[in-house]
Amino acid sequence: MSKVEKYNPYQEMLQVLDLAAEKLGFSLNDYNTLRYPERELKVAVPVEMDDGTLKVYTGYRIQHCSSRGPCKGGIRFHPNVDLDEVKALSAWMTWKCAVVNIPYGGAKGGIEVDPSLLSTRELSRLTRRYTAAILPLLGPERDIPAPDVNTDARIMGWIMDTYSMFKGYAVPGVVTGKPIEIGGSLGRKEATGRGVSIVTDEIAFRAGIPLQKARIAVQGFGNVGGTASRLFYEKGYNVVAVSDVNVGLYNEKGLNIQEIEKYQKINKTLSGYTAKGVCEITNEELLCLDVDILVPAAMENQITKDIAVNIKAKVIVEGANGPTTTEADEILNEKGVIVVPDILANAGGVVVSYFEWVQNLQAIFWDEHEVYAMLKKIMIRSFDEVYGLAKESDVSLRVAAYMVALDRVVKAKKIRGIFP
Ligand code: NAD
Repeated sequence: MSKVEKYNPYQEMLQVLDLAAEKLGFSLNDYNTLRYPERELKVAVPVEMDDGTLKVYTGYRIQHCSSRGPCKGGIRFHPNVDLDEVKALSAWMTWKCAVVNIPYGGAKGGIEVDPSLLSTRELSRLTRRYTAAILPLLGPERDIPAPDVNTDARIMGWIMDTYSMFKGYAVPGVVTGKPIEIGGSLGRKEATGRGVSIVTDEIAFRAGIPLQKARIAVQGFGNVGGTASRLFYEKGYNVVAVSDVNVGLYNEKGLNIQEIEKYQKINKTLSGYTAKGVCEITNEELLCLDVDILVPAAMENQITKDIAVNIKAKVIVEGANGPTTTEADEILNEKGVIVVPDILANAGGVVVSYFEWVQNLQAIFWDEHEVYAMLKKIMIRSFDEVYGLAKESDVSLRVAAYMVALDRVVKAKKIRGIFP
């Protein structure tokens, strides 16, 4: 990709898909429909701002595939949200749900907005108007949103309320990642980070890396990266670097994640944090640190070809969606860096979202330890399937994960047939 060419995550997704299909011996006919999202909805979202002015935001909801069940996928509020990003994220959800074998297809939504510039009331109006605009697509049997970058339980609560107001009764199963008080599941908030930590244990064991002695760097200190860092820290692992969009923090002897979490909760940023032995680094420096395990858990397109050549980590566990470009992935493979791909590594969130939806449909609730035990079982089972296939077929874990997923989706499509 030349410098002027725009990064297109959907094209990146297609490249891996084609490779997985080839390895499976599929013809284009077998999976051609999966190269196209089923539905793409673009909406204008007018919001009356607190000062009386009117702003119009652009939003999307894209359903990539519904062959294996209702579409499932988060909603992102970010200034860089665009059609190709949401398309890629929706397809990744199809593969993610298939890789962990839960009965969903893939979807994703987003609004091109910087939510930090909005007041709470403006954010509520934006969320509710967007929900109303995409309402015909939503429903517990159709399409079930969840949190993603810059969206949280409170926003999911507003989505649940808006949908329920249109229906005339409470519909908790229309969205996951809700507050516990309105049908959220115990363990959902930290499910993605917990899944990342489970997968890290598995890959470190296979790669012969003793985690009690390993050095770990985590990019992104939000829901995924912050939780994963805390769980590593609680297990006694040495997290030497973390970062947010503003700054990275590094201590070669290890960071006190509990203290950093407290600081971030109060200050909403890692900037300005000081402690003995801690220095500030850039996100780029963090990615290239001499560590055993690197967890990119911020955004897509972080490990580019230029970064990949300087990566020193032995293992990368992709907490974020699409953090590694295709070109970078090739370089990492050549260098012998093991990459646990996003569609497996960060699937813990959608697994517990599935548990939340099941609990909502049955109106029954599970204990936290039941949720965690089932999450661990599914993550380890999925990891073993992908790892086994990678060894058997002599492919990377990414291609193996796509092969597991694509095989399941294509089988479902073939059994159902093409309508009409
Ligand atoms: P979040 O908004 O809670 O946190 C994002 C973090 O990344 C923040 O610390 C932010 O400061 C940092 N960040 C943002 N842009 C950055 C940049 N350009 N460079 C460095 N850091 C940057 O988001 P999240 O929910 O933790 O999601 C992070 C990633 O994980 C995304 O790719 C998301 O799609 C993926 N993911 C999230 C979930 C989930 O359950 N939340 C599930 C699966 C995958």
